[in-house]
Amino acid sequence: MGDPLHAADDAVEALGMVDRAARPYLDALPHLPVRDATHAHLLDDLDGPLPEDGDGTLTAVAELLRIGTKAATHSSGPRFFHFVVGGATPAAQAADWITSLLDQPAGLWLTSPLATRAETVVLRWLKELFGLPASHGGVLTPSATFANLTGLACARFDWGRKHGVDVTADGLAGLPRMPVFSSGYVHASSRKALQLLGVGRDHVRTLSRDDAGRIDLEALDRELGTSGPAVVIANAGEVNAGDFDPVDAIADVVARHDAWLHVDGAFGLFAALSPRTAHLTAGVDRADSVAADGHKWLNVPYESGFAFVREAGLLGRAFGGWNAPYLPEPDDEFVNYNNLGPESSRRARAFPIWATLRAYGRAGHRAMVERHQDLARRLGDAVEADPDLESLAPVTVFVVCFRYAPAGLSEPELDDLNRRLGAELLDDGRVYAGTTVYRGRVALRPAIVNWRTTADNIDLLVRTVKEIGARLSGR
Ligand SMILES: *Cc1c(COP(=O)(O)O)cnc(C)c1O
Repeated sequence: MGDPLHAADDAVEALGMVDRAARPYLDALPHLPVRDATHAHLLDDLDGPLPEDGDGTLTAVAELLRIGTKAATHSSGPRFFHFVVGGATPAAQAADWITSLLDQPAGLWLTSPLATRAETVVLRWLKELFGLPASHGGVLTPSATFANLTGLACARFDWGRKHGVDVTADGLAGLPRMPVFSSGYVHASSRKALQLLGVGRDHVRTLSRDDAGRIDLEALDRELGTSGPAVVIANAGEVNAGDFDPVDAIADVVARHDAWLHVDGAFGLFAALSPRTAHLTAGVDRADSVAADGHKWLNVPYESGFAFVREAGLLGRAFGGWNAPYLPEPDDEFVNYNNLGPESSRRARAFPIWATLRAYGRAGHRAMVERHQDLARRLGDAVEADPDLESLAPVTVFVVCFRYAPAGLSEPELDDLNRRLGAELLDDGRVYAGTTVYRGRVALRPAIVNWRTTADNIDLLVRTVKEIGARLSGR
């Protein structure tokens, strides 16, 4: 088969194959087990020696469709409740195909005015959606991990500047360690960002006032009083129980000191869309940098994230690695987004975000966010009403933290039972929900963030947990 030049005529047919596979796949998706162990052997079909001559376009694409549509984790369906995994709205999914069709190098204005303009537009829309000042700078990233990296890189630049050093040019050598404070809610991805930035993953001081990890504001005030210039990470949405740091109160403390406030709002930022939960994000507009995900509560396909920074010019300072003195304004038409974030070459990540916001608007996304809250409440109520289930934390947005807890078992027995229950749930595949450890107890913490999820799916989750729980505990 050889040279793809000879396969040019296959391009349309190959896309047609994907198109024709889409209907049966998407029709089945709401009903498929999340992961079907009977298809695990198909993974072996991916393997084999590096092909010498190749099988040709249509055979390769047919193979990937055959294997993929069966062996995929159907996490974009309505019953994947593990971690925080969003789906892909119809408009966002189609726009993601368009992104591949157009294959835009979206790093420079010169290589794609289209992708650049789309990015500028969606960043403006997102700021409006979350009530962030229009003057903030921003950039799309592959994920909240990269968005945290982006915000914290700007924080590090600012901190170095306060010490008279350009850390992007000269590094951290000779400087004291950058003080970083957070609550016990700090996410592993913020630590990973600090690890990459040379600050150190374990250098975050967590100032908690209880075993859930809630922030101790007085301790923060005290620490910032003696630390010198510092960085504070507030967490708008924590993954175990969905609780929020009090961002506004943290911003009050930070305002009394010489510190940078970064907010990790990976999913929680979207609480701002609903008047019911907007209070949870109060104060985010006062932060120096804000990070969030698109592939969680916005329901655009992987990968998608974004970061905003109050001092817009800092993005170019922290990431403009090519001696380009050019520091664009947020609405500048000729932005080179590869100067404003950790990536250089990048795909046109704006298209799916643009399409979902254009398709469903603020009201549509608010409706989805509120439906997820209603579903979480439905699950929370079912847990409260059931003598064999125990709620472990209040429901704030879409995480419901609970355990299977029939009477008469000791704490170690309950931990063991719930650990086995979590593992069985994943093998069973009807609903996908694993365990965490919350306040020292093994807990289930399903997160409801997929646009397809309805009440039926929640009721099935409850039935499945009870059925497996009863079997494991011999009831
Ligand atoms: C998921 C998550 C992240 C990291 O996001 P990725 O998209 O996995 O990089 C960071 N912070 C919080 C609170 C999260 O829930």
